[in-house]
Amino acid sequence: MLRFHFAQGHMGSPCRIVLYAPDAHSAQAAAAAAFAEIAAIDASMSDWKAGSELSRLNESREALVSDRLFEVLSIALRIAEGTGGAYDPTLGAAVEAWREARIPGEEERKEILSKVGWRHLRLDPAKRRARIEKPGVRLDLGGIAKGYAADRALAALARRGVRSALVDLGGDLSLGDPPPGAEGWRVSIGGKGSGILLLRNRGVATSGDAEKSLEIGGVRYSHILDPRTGVGLPGGAQAIVVAPNATLADALATAVCVLGPEAGRTTAASIPGVEARVRAGEWEAETAGFAALLAEDAESLPTPASGR
Ligand code: ADP
Ligand code: MG
Repeated sequence: MLRFHFAQGHMGSPCRIVLYAPDAHSAQAAAAAAFAEIAAIDASMSDWKAGSELSRLNESREALVSDRLFEVLSIALRIAEGTGGAYDPTLGAAVEAWREARIPGEEERKEILSKVGWRHLRLDPAKRRARIEKPGVRLDLGGIAKGYAADRALAALARRGVRSALVDLGGDLSLGDPPPGAEGWRVSIGGKGSGILLLRNRGVATSGDAEKSLEIGGVRYSHILDPRTGVGLPGGAQAIVVAPNATLADALATAVCVLGPEAGRTTAASIPGVEARVRAGEWEAETAGFAALLAEDAESLPTPASGR
């Protein structure tokens, strides 16, 4: 088996695929299928693209949706419920204000919050229909779509027989079987307690990275919003979540940043197969099983999460 490495830009992020295959031809064909899967998910779930399936659902408020979108919306609702709404897929109105780089005033904030709430989204599995019950409520899948795309890309590789593989979509990683002869993929994590996670057949996500924050009036705000206030978290919130897949890891990483170290740890620990390290400024907490995921031979590397 030979090791191959592919990189493209997708969903506003760098996307890397590392895989093992018998020859360059099968490696390239598998990677092309994986990137195509990511592009298809982006075309469906982007809220930047006016014609996307998600944008059309936001306009019409009720639609028969694709299998993929239905699956993501179902998972999103489950996570919203399981995190007490800390992860909320209906933050569209609040995200729009954030993108204009301003803190809304009291009145506008009330107005925005009246247009947020995952309970306004209803799904009918029998008919595969999604319905936004309240006018003005808009879906935003920015906190889950990259993890889902990474998982689907890994599945596309597996369908082509490539099982030792890793997909890293801007810090949301979907990990398959380990490299031949290795116990796991080595995923280096930055921050105070930096180290290397040794993982296989898992998802990993990092959230709250400083590059995506915004400065308004000399104060840093994260692009993760607190659904209770509709405003970006103060700078310094950071999380690493390991979960059975990247979809869950991605959304949970967003949620535990909102919840903060203590509540974030408790929530993460309550979900089977999930471990997390959560930080707010100098304050950090991690689940009981997190340390056991660290490679014992790890030297500290000052890099943000990246798999190798
Ligand atoms: P990253 O892009 O760094 O992986 P996240 O996974 O945390 O970041 O997703 C951040 C995006 O998720 C925001 O840009 C926004 O679209 C959306 N979002 C922000 N706050 C929340 C939240 N509390 N719940 C769900 N989605 C959110
Ligand atoms: Mg996320």
